[in-house]
Amino acid sequence: MASSNLAHAQTAKPRPSDLELVALNGMFDEKDGLSVLRHALTGDVSPAPIAMVSSFGADSSVLLHMVAQINPNQEVLFLETGKHFAETLEYIEITKKHLGLTNVRFLEPDTKDVERFDPKGNLWETDPDSCCHIRKTEPLDAALKTYGGWVTGRKRFQTNDRGVLPHFELTTDERIKVNPLAYWDNDDVAAYRKAHDLPAHPLFLKGFLSIGCEPCTSVVKEGEDPRSGRWRGKDKTECGIHFDVSGKIAHPTVEIGQKPMNLFKNGAFVADLWRDLKEDEAVTDLDHVHIPFDVYLENREEIDANPRDLGLILRPGDDVDALGEAAKQFSSIVVEFPAFTDGRGYSYARLLRERYNYEGELRARGDILTDQVAYFLRCGFDALTVQNEATKKALQNDDLGSVNLFMQPIGASQEVPVGTRPFLRRAK
Ligand code: SF4
Repeated sequence: MASSNLAHAQTAKPRPSDLELVALNGMFDEKDGLSVLRHALTGDVSPAPIAMVSSFGADSSVLLHMVAQINPNQEVLFLETGKHFAETLEYIEITKKHLGLTNVRFLEPDTKDVERFDPKGNLWETDPDSCCHIRKTEPLDAALKTYGGWVTGRKRFQTNDRGVLPHFELTTDERIKVNPLAYWDNDDVAAYRKAHDLPAHPLFLKGFLSIGCEPCTSVVKEGEDPRSGRWRGKDKTECGIHFDVSGKIAHPTVEIGQKPMNLFKNGAFVADLWRDLKEDEAVTDLDHVHIPFDVYLENREEIDANPRDLGLILRPGDDVDALGEAAKQFSSIVVEFPAFTDGRGYSYARLLRERYNYEGELRARGDILTDQVAYFLRCGFDALTVQNEATKKALQNDDLGSVNLFMQPIGASQEVPVGTRPFLRRAK
C-alpha cells in the first residue's frame, strides 16, 4: 500500500489556526481569482508552499493564465492517469506554449499498484473509486508531501456538493485547499477566456464541458449539470482527490476545530483521520478504517485486495505471529490496552517492529497513564490515543517521564534517547 494522508499529517508544517482561516476567507471574500491565487502561491497562507494542480480540462486555461502572470516557472502538477484523451495530452503542449509555462510535472501512478490492482486496465469499470485512488489520490498524495496544500479549479456552480465552497478550506489532514474560482460561473469563465484569447480544449468544442479520463467522460447535454458527463451512470461525482479521507468534501476549518483531538503524534495532538469498523459493517470499499484482527482473518482475501489505506486492531489474545509479514500492508495498527495490568500489547509492538519489520503507524489505545508513555516509546509505538485527561495534560506539557527500569532487552538496536525519537518531535 502506498503513502497515506495520515503520513502527510505527520510531515505537514503547522497550518493557520481555525480563526486565521475564517479571517482569510473574510478578507478575500470580495477579491478576484487572481488575487486569491497570488496570495496562495506567493503569500503566507501556509508555512509550506501551496502546489498548483491542473487537470488541463475544459476550464483550466483560466487558472493557468493567472499562474503565468504570477510566475511562468511555477510548478504545475498534472495527474497523468494513463487514461486521458489524446486531445488532453495535446492540449497540455498547446497551453504550455501559448502561456509560456515552463514547469509542468506529470504525476504517474505507482506501476506496482497498477499491476496488482488493475492488470487489465478496466478497474474504472468495476471499481472506479479504487481506480481513482491508485491513479489520482495516491500519486497526488506523494507529490504533496512537501507542500502545505494545493490550488484547485473547483467552482460553486458545478455541483450541489460544491455550493458552499470557500476560497480557502482545510482538509482533515491539515492541508489547505485554495479555490480561486470558487465564486465564478460559466459566463465568467467564458468572458475571461475571450478577453485573454485562451485556447479551448479541443473536446470542449464537441460538447465535453468537464473533461477527465476518457473512459469516465461523456458529452454533456443541454440543461444538464456541467459535471454530469463524468462517471455517467455511476454513483460517483468526485474522483477522490477532492474528498477528505472520511469520504466527505473538505469543509472549512471551523468544523474540524470542534472535534476532540485525542491522537498524540509527533509531539502534538492532531486530528484523527481514522475510524473503527462498525459492527456488522461490510469490509468492502473501506478507507482509513481500523479492522479488528478476527474480522481481518475471516475476510483476508477481500481486505488484502483493497488498495486503500487500511488499519488493524489487535487485542490481548490475538496471535500476532498469525499476522506476520502481512502486517506491512497496513498503514496503521492499533494495539488495545484494556487494563493497566495487561502488558501483552507491549510484546505485540516489539514483535511487529522487530520480528516483522512493521514500519507503519503503531498506536497504543486504552486508559493510558502518564507512567506508561515512556514504555510505549521503548516498544516502538509512535502514536497514542489518549482519553485520560491527566495523561493528556502531561503530554501537552511535555511531561513524559523516562524508562528507568528495563524489564526486557530492547533487541539488537541501540537505545535512543527518548527525546530524539520522532514520536516526541513537536511541530514548531
Ligand atoms: S476517472 Fe476513471 S479512468 Fe480515471 S482514474 Fe478515475 S476511474 Fe480511473
